[in-house]
Amino acid sequence: MSERAAPFYCPYCGDEDLRPSEQGHGAWECGACNRAFRLSFLGLLARGVAKGAPNERT
Ligand SMILES: [Zn+2]
Repeated sequence: MSERAAPFYCPYCGDEDLRPSEQGHGAWECGACNRAFRLSFLGLLARGVAKGAPNERT
């Protein structure tokens, strides 16, 4: 099992009462608002990977 994309807060109500759903991989249920949602990886952004550390001075 690999549950790597675990949300910390419900994207709808902001509650932390999240539990894995039986709907399948990446699906979660919110115990506070009774919503079920799914996290999915869309792909890498076209702008690419930033070079160097964010606070690195050039
Ligand atoms: Zn919720």
